[in-house]
Amino acid sequence: MKPIYKRVLIKISGEGLMGRQGFGIDAGAVEDIAGQIKEVADSGVEICLVVGGGNIFRGVQEASKGISRTVGDHVGMMATVMNALYLQNVMERLGMSVRVMSGLEIPQVCENYVYRRALRHLEKGRILIFFVCTGNPYFTTDTGAVLRASEMGCDVLLKSTQVDGVYDDDPKRNPKAKKYREVSYDEVIEKQLRVMDLPAIAMARENKLPILVFSQHEQGALAKVLSGKGNFTVIKES
Ligand code: UDP
Repeated sequence: MKPIYKRVLIKISGEGLMGRQGFGIDAGAVEDIAGQIKEVADSGVEICLVVGGGNIFRGVQEASKGISRTVGDHVGMMATVMNALYLQNVMERLGMSVRVMSGLEIPQVCENYVYRRALRHLEKGRILIFFVCTGNPYFTTDTGAVLRASEMGCDVLLKSTQVDGVYDDDPKRNPKAKKYREVSYDEVIEKQLRVMDLPAIAMARENKLPILVFSQHEQGALAKVLSGKGNFTVIKES
C-alpha cells in the first residue's frame, strides 16, 4: 500500500458498526473495521476517527416521534460514546495505540478534547477517536467530523457509507442512478445530494477540505482509497 495522504480523518457511521444485525454493535463488523484501520496505520498514515451513533439512537428520528429534539440529541451523543469506547478497545486488542477524546466532559471514562493535546497524540503516532465533537444538540457527527478534520489539519476526510460514492439519486431505489467520480460542494448543496447534511458540506467548502465517499462493504476499501485507487467519489471545489 502506497498512501498518498499524510494525515486523514475517517468518519465511520454507526450503521457501519452494526453489521447485518440492523441495530446495535456487531463484534465481527467492528473487528473488520479495526483491521482495515490497522493496515492503513501500519503504512504510516496519521489517523483520526469520528464515530456516529445511528446504530443505537438518532436524535432527529426520535424527535419526529414526539421526544424533545434537544433531549433526543443528548441521547444520540451518548450512543456515539458507546461506539467510540467499544471501537477503541477492539483496536487496542489488535495492538494499536488509541486515545478517545470527547467534546463533552466524561472525566472518569475518557479524555476531554484539547486541541494541542490532540495534536501531540498524533505526533506521537497515536490514533485518535473523537466523539461528540461539537458537544451540542442540533448537529450531526458528520459536521463534527469536518470540524475536527479542519482543526487537526487533515489532508482529507474519508466518509465510509453503505454505497460506493455519491449518486444523483438513491442507487438502492433507482438502478439508473448515476455515480459521480467527482462533484463540487456547490453541486452537492444545490442538488441536495444526500451524502452529508448541509452544515457539514458548507464547513468543508469553507475550509477546502476534500471529502472522499466510499463503501465500507468493499474488501480492503480503506487502503485502496487512501492510495488513490478503488471506487469512491471525491467532493471538492469545482
Ligand atoms: N449528535 C449531536 N451533536 C453532535 C454529534 C452527534 O447532537 O455534535 C447526536 C445526534 O442526535 C445524532 C446522534 O448524535 O443523530 C448520532 O450521530 P449521527 O446520527 O450523526 O450518527 P451516524 O449517522 O454517523 O451513525
